[in-house]
Amino acid sequence: MSVAENLEKVLADIRSAEKAARRAPGSVDLIAVSKTHPAEDIVPAIRAGQRKFGENRVQEAQSKWPPLKADHPDIELHLIGPLQSNKAAAAVALFDVIQSIDRKKIAREIAKEISAQNRQPRLYVQVNTGAEPQKAGIAPEDVPDFVDLCRGELGLTVEGLMCIPPVEDNPGPHFALLAQIAARCGLPLLSMGMSGDYPTAIEFGATEVRVGTAIFGERDYPATSG
Ligand SMILES: *Cc1c(COP(=O)(O)O)cnc(C)c1O
Repeated sequence: MSVAENLEKVLADIRSAEKAARRAPGSVDLIAVSKTHPAEDIVPAIRAGQRKFGENRVQEAQSKWPPLKADHPDIELHLIGPLQSNKAAAAVALFDVIQSIDRKKIAREIAKEISAQNRQPRLYVQVNTGAEPQKAGIAPEDVPDFVDLCRGELGLTVEGLMCIPPVEDNPGPHFALLAQIAARCGLPLLSMGMSGDYPTAIEFGATEVRVGTAIFGERDYPATSG
């Protein structure tokens, strides 16, 4: 199947999951995750009308997206991978949404770059719902204080939460936990659900799902972070 056909199928699945969950049609956004895929695979998705894309590496995104964004200024580019502080300037310059705020140091760097560059990417906090030691993200119990720090001391507007459940777990409880924390913090956006579990995420309240493989096919090499 072509990228355009895959995209159409994923969008149809999103619409039926919305319906099954008695949610308003169109209440869930699709972020097409194009990491590791070259621009020529992305162009058909843009032609088919997709405008929100996710990348997990700043450097890779810098090499692919500036010309595509110049051609299509309405594209919204999301950073969904861990951010190093030496890439904060580049990330603020290129991305429209940064979903992976996962520690104080990065939040500080982002705040600094937002005032230096006079750009306002939208920001989400990544939550390590499975408390996995190797995984990025704020521990669930620390999220309210961290969001307060971002909003208060750093003056950042945080709009949502993002999570990546442990691969071996049933994702439902992780999505439920993320939704519960977001409600407690007054955050309207929930980025959760990937190719294997996006209908479940929609059932638990996802406002956006991040889907790569189901649109662009298997990745040739494992995506690294950074
Ligand atoms: C790669 C990635 C995705 C997409 O995963 P698929 O299983 O290919 O749909 C979603 N979110 C994050 C953070 C990713 O790194």
